[in-house]
Amino acid sequence: MIGEPGEGFKIAMSAIDQGRFTVAAGACGLIRACLEASVKYCHERQAFGQEIGRFQLVQQMIAKMVRGYETSRLLVFRAAELKNRGIRNTRETSLAKWHACDCAFEAANDAVQIHGAYGYSNEYPVERYLRNARGAVIYEGTREIHTILQAEYALGYRVDKPLRCPQPPAQGYEAVAARG
Ligand SMILES: Cc1cc2nc3c(=O)[nH]c(=O)nc-3n(C[C@H](O)[C@H](O)[C@H](O)COP(=O)(O)OP(=O)(O)OC[C@H]3O[C@@H](n4cnc5c(N)ncnc54)[C@H](O)[C@@H]3O)c2cc1C
Repeated sequence: MIGEPGEGFKIAMSAIDQGRFTVAAGACGLIRACLEASVKYCHERQAFGQEIGRFQLVQQMIAKMVRGYETSRLLVFRAAELKNRGIRNTRETSLAKWHACDCAFEAANDAVQIHGAYGYSNEYPVERYLRNARGAVIYEGTREIHTILQAEYALGYRVDKPLRCPQPPAQGYEAVAARG
């Protein structure tokens, strides 16, 4: 038995910031994969006598992937820094998960669009990226649950209760941080 009878829910809640964090980090990887596949295809595919990457509406989709990737990464890094220091990060991890998963879904949807009909087939990986991105908007707290969490934090309706099992600082982290 882990913990005491009746503590299961509290202990599970202690772990949820870790699961959500890994989903957020995975979503960053997914956005990057969408970006790399799309940039490659933009250079390969010609339409109306030029690479499709030359069309501004295609560039808009690429630009949104860049924005989603960079902002998601920064939010994940911020949550990671708090975790390394052993500081409560439920609010920051929730925001990273919500934002990164929404951006990953948008990036994957646009990656399919950029690939045209090939994007819909399994000859290219982007249709798989879209399926994978869709699930992450649902699990580890749905998009709606994170929306409510963020609103409640901002409005002051939500204040974190102490965790049953708080995470300690990462071992050796202070020494690594001091070295830069
Ligand atoms: C690919 C995939 C893998 C999964 N893997 C796992 C796993 O490994 N382990 C595990 O335990 N679970 C897993 N799940 C389950 C996942 O955690 C749940 O599906 C998720 O928590 C949503 O619960 P639900 O499906 O019961 O939806 P519901 O709770 O029935 O929600 C249905 C809809 O109502 C909305 N909703 C619900 N409550 C509110 C509210 N209070 N306010 C506003 N909107 C609300 C939801 O956001 C959603 O849009 C997985 C799900 C998927 C899709």
